[in-house]
Amino acid sequence: TDACLNAIEAAGELGAFVHNTPDVARAQAASADARIAQGDAPSLCGIPLGIKDLFCTKGVPSQAASRILEGFKPEYESTVSGQLFDRGAVMLGKLNMDEFAMGSSNETSVYGNAVNPWRAGNSDAALTPGGSSGGSASAVAADLCLGATGTDTGGSIRQPAAFTGIVGIKPTYGRCSRWGVVAFASSLDQAGPMTKTVRDAAIMLEGMCGHDAKDSTSADLAVPDFEAALTGDIRGKVIGIPKEYRMDGMPAEIAKLWEDGTAMLRDAGAEIRDISLPHTKYALPAYYVIAPAEASSNLARYDGVRFGHRASLAQGDGITEMYEKTRAEGFGAEVQRRVMVGTYVLSAGFYDAYYNRARRVRALIKQDFDTVFAAGVDAILTPATPSAAFELGRKVDDPVEMYLNDVFTVTVNLAGLPGISVPTGLDEKGLPLGLQLIGRPWEEADLLNTAYALE
Ligand code: GLN
Repeated sequence: TDACLNAIEAAGELGAFVHNTPDVARAQAASADARIAQGDAPSLCGIPLGIKDLFCTKGVPSQAASRILEGFKPEYESTVSGQLFDRGAVMLGKLNMDEFAMGSSNETSVYGNAVNPWRAGNSDAALTPGGSSGGSASAVAADLCLGATGTDTGGSIRQPAAFTGIVGIKPTYGRCSRWGVVAFASSLDQAGPMTKTVRDAAIMLEGMCGHDAKDSTSADLAVPDFEAALTGDIRGKVIGIPKEYRMDGMPAEIAKLWEDGTAMLRDAGAEIRDISLPHTKYALPAYYVIAPAEASSNLARYDGVRFGHRASLAQGDGITEMYEKTRAEGFGAEVQRRVMVGTYVLSAGFYDAYYNRARRVRALIKQDFDTVFAAGVDAILTPATPSAAFELGRKVDDPVEMYLNDVFTVTVNLAGLPGISVPTGLDEKGLPLGLQLIGRPWEEADLLNTAYALE
């Protein structure tokens, strides 16, 4: 814990941590020491972690990187972070992210962007760590903590993991409780671990997940021993390669990474099968209707009354002006864009044309996956991202360009499946690249084991 606290002090320029909690950390570390001395050491005893700012942590600022939650210190602990602490984990502080987890580059944060510790070749241009869990990715990659919580609504664990050369898993929807996690798009949001290795991800996921009566979508299923599943034996497993993910203009280095990963799994004894997921091309547009729709509803609660920031009002201003001024000041540009898009697609005249159609597309995407799994496919291998980490500032003015980053990841959230990003290579400039494995619902143990064979 001391080593991590020192490393965090020394790495301020990464912008990974937005709120340090050294006192909490030292107290938790001392009690972990005491538990170890008593021979009662649970799985995460004394392990220093970072917590994404989207998680409510009791008495500790939890702002979802938004101005509108300025000064908000929750009275309660999210189920996920609470479980980690019960198992002995130590909280070093809160991690940077895109505002309300909306973004792919960590540039929409009220705290300013986080920076990727990697550099391209000899260039000193600062790169994005990805988003929205950019602070988590940057902190783990730079060894400021041994693991971090992330959340993934459309790729926010897997894409930053790929951009920083670490492992990130989004479990099956319902595996981790969403209670106490600031809501973005409730039917898509899932928490998950971001770590250096697949083994660490297995251990940390086991500590985070499980049934929680406080989240009605949390699954009442036993938590498997994920670490015990890591045998590396994948002989006879069927790995699907979906042709629709071979996008036009795919960079040669991504195509090669994918081929190399396929060869590695084949060499380990897996059967490689070409598959089709025909509705893939509709996933990104459907996601960018459904996610903003749910966000516009979830964010209605930030009204200047119940949480955080309230605008100062002029003489004669009423409640409408208070809402308007508070939300105009409190939400950044990307969040405002999502609220407007979401409100529009849910409005009476457009609901059927946009929101309902997107929901139907979502069902077809889910059906595509169900069909290949029913035909015997155990896991699906795809690239995690269409490119390596890009320069900060490069896509910030072009939302559509930014949204295209999520092309390989959003399908998994729409279908509620588990997906993991594994670092498997470097591009010609020496930047990390990742592959994604998508698994059957609730079969994270099997998925982690396949990822272990690929690592
Ligand atoms: N980049 C996607 C978005 O902006 C996904 C974000 C996420 O998974 N939280 O919506």
